[in-house]
Amino acid sequence: MSQPQPINKVSLVIPVFNEQESLPALLERTGNACKKLSQSYEIILVDDGSSDDSAQLLTAAAEQPGSAIIAVLLNRNYGQHSAIMAGFNQASGDLVITLDADLQNPPEEIPRLVEIAEQGYDVVGTVRADRQDSWFRKTASRLINLMIQRATGKSMGDYGCMLRAYRRHIVEAMLHCHERSTFIPILANTFARRTIEIEVRHAERAFGDSKYGFMKLINLMYDLLTCLTTAPLRLLSVVGSVIALLGFVLALLLIILRLALGAEWAEDGVFTLFAVLFSFIGAQFVAMGLLGEYIGRIYHDVRARPRYFVQKVIGSQPIADSQEKQ
Ligand code: UDP
Ligand code: MG
Repeated sequence: MSQPQPINKVSLVIPVFNEQESLPALLERTGNACKKLSQSYEIILVDDGSSDDSAQLLTAAAEQPGSAIIAVLLNRNYGQHSAIMAGFNQASGDLVITLDADLQNPPEEIPRLVEIAEQGYDVVGTVRADRQDSWFRKTASRLINLMIQRATGKSMGDYGCMLRAYRRHIVEAMLHCHERSTFIPILANTFARRTIEIEVRHAERAFGDSKYGFMKLINLMYDLLTCLTTAPLRLLSVVGSVIALLGFVLALLLIILRLALGAEWAEDGVFTLFAVLFSFIGAQFVAMGLLGEYIGRIYHDVRARPRYFVQKVIGSQPIADSQEKQ
């Protein structure tokens, strides 16, 4: 393993959506935590089209002389992950740390995250110790985490916690992904070589309610799934093959029973109808699965994620910017 890249500057990226009550405490606590860093830092707050006074508060904080705060105001609500992407675009640090504005992720953990990233990790994830959310939310996340672990092979216990640190090259890679719906922690892991997960505290939401209603949560789950894999499309073929096979076995069984037990056994062909039906339904699923395979490939091409990222070329002059090569 080569020497880890030094971290000279840390950028914080915080999406804000109607968080006017928690902003004063957030700004103070993050400011204090950042003062403990030995690196220089910037705090980027992205207002995701809030309808309360969040944008004004952020503007005022950013306009103070000598302030390390950068306010990015989006013209409407685009969702947490798009807001974070907007923040990434603005960030210039060697390490970029995301966290939530509602103070559920304690900003005091930031120096620890930086310290661990300095050991040479591309992504530092966090697990919420003693998570302060409802039972329904906890079970849903547990199921999702299990699914992601199986699909990416990257063993991380908790993708829902947004207090995370990403190295510059991971952020660059993510900025080159132009798909509209993304789930940042998963996207980052698809580009990371060395990842680690540490335990952090998790607090209850002090002000207001979660900004994720039921429909937004479902939307997020689909974003997460489609960001990760096109396997559900393939599932259609698998299900279809199983149904078709069952139909075939049933038909075979019917023929054997008909031969063995005689014509009066077969209930006037009702069972035969089932066998035929199963086979046809199965065939339809297989056909849908085939369409799914094409759609999956179209989807991959439309997203146009870069095929690869060169981290470093050693021993020759780089010919051109290899990052954009498709
Ligand atoms: N957020 C955002 N845009 C949205 C929804 C949420 O920028 O459309 C921000 C929100 O202000 C907070 C973070 O995303 O900083 C996480 O949101 P929330 O705490 O509501 O999510 P939960 O903790 O319930 O998962
Ligand atoms: Mg929250």
